[in-house]
Amino acid sequence: MFTLFDNTLKRLIEAAEHLDLDPGFLEKLKNALEMTQARLPIRMDDGSTKSFLAFRCRYDDSLGPTKGGIRFHQQVNGDEVMALALMMTSKCAVMDLPFGGAKGGVKVDPHSLSNMEHESLSRAYVRAFAHVIGPDRDIPAPDVGTNEKTMAWMMDEYSTIVGKRTPAVITGKPVALGGSLGRDDATARGAYNIIQHKARTLGLKRGARVAIQGFGNAGMHMAQLVAADGYKIVAVSDSKGAVHAPAGFDIGELLAAKRCGRVINMAGSAGVSEIPGDELLAVDCEVLVLAALENMVHKGNAESITARLIVELANGPVTPEADEVLKAMNVVILPDILANAGGVTVSYFEWVQNREGDRWTLDQVHARLKTAMEREADAVWTYAREKNITLRTAAYVLALSRIAAAMEALGTDKF
Ligand code: NAD
Repeated sequence: MFTLFDNTLKRLIEAAEHLDLDPGFLEKLKNALEMTQARLPIRMDDGSTKSFLAFRCRYDDSLGPTKGGIRFHQQVNGDEVMALALMMTSKCAVMDLPFGGAKGGVKVDPHSLSNMEHESLSRAYVRAFAHVIGPDRDIPAPDVGTNEKTMAWMMDEYSTIVGKRTPAVITGKPVALGGSLGRDDATARGAYNIIQHKARTLGLKRGARVAIQGFGNAGMHMAQLVAADGYKIVAVSDSKGAVHAPAGFDIGELLAAKRCGRVINMAGSAGVSEIPGDELLAVDCEVLVLAALENMVHKGNAESITARLIVELANGPVTPEADEVLKAMNVVILPDILANAGGVTVSYFEWVQNREGDRWTLDQVHARLKTAMEREADAVWTYAREKNITLRTAAYVLALSRIAAAMEALGTDKF
């Protein structure tokens, strides 16, 4: 049984075969630079104490201070955190950002916490990892189960510890505390920028049908952006279930149903039926957006996919075995380390604004994001064409070539 970390490393090793690299570079990348574990005891609202397991992994800092989100989820574990940190390393490199990769997490069901417990846990996380993070060392951000409120508490706690207001220690903050305009939909917008830029190459036409697995932050924003551009959303799912509307959803009604708690609230509306969650993949459509969690498409269900294009907004949603099946079916995969890199790119914009004491307009953020996504999508497509490899392998080749160049420039005694 391969773990998420094994799968991620495998992709990097495959990419290395297409580059003439000193084997020392890859050897170094087989292990994380720094993996820290802590226990976070917090006082619960009922007066009891609960202890939560927490991690922070800085995977590689060859390209700069490390960057990566903090996940609050009941399935968080060391292997997953390390795998996501390695993905972040590759993602920052693909986008040519001056960052290495990191990730953090707490093993907790965030829905079981009250607001005050969530705040206590967020502040405890920063106290435990204050020696690891820092604006020039390691810069966290939100991920599954955390949000801008979490980032505000964390920034405040860090500022108290170091004795000065330090907004650049963390990104994804509320705009009132130095967050960037345009961060909320940046992940989806980055993927949307690529889809628009490559629509002709991908054979996408106005009215193309889209199914979305995972109707959370990334999935909902994606639905809004593509629907406004004339695409038809025909199926969506969340952890509670899935709904199918062959003629297309009214996007306003869909968002309202989700705001009331769950997408299956839509079932029963005209032309909408509830389907089992795992049947969403098999729905007749041109584009499948994966915006839930990792390993959702595997050897056992890949063959049921009808879409010609898969957009990976989630990290690691397709296993390497499923990659092989989908390649044989000629399905194009817009890989996670490129497709969902809009989030970290606008996080980088936020860090730059905080360090300069500046604020950019929404138009500036959107324009810079579009330029960055189109530039790196072109670079990935060029590698894929020249080397006759998938977009995923091409993205890893581009990332690895940049990381290796930085390692080489740092000198051989760093090995
Ligand atoms: P989120 O928690 O807001 O949304 C996740 C959604 O997936 C929820 O609606 C949840 O109900 C749904 N879900 C969970 N299990 C499911 C299942 N088995 N079937 C269908 N749906 C299921 O999280 P998010 O921020 O939207 O992130 C989603 C993914 O995108 C994660 O993998 C995350 O790491 C990745 N990502 C997010 C960002 C970002 O900026 N939000 C950036 C990069 C990558």
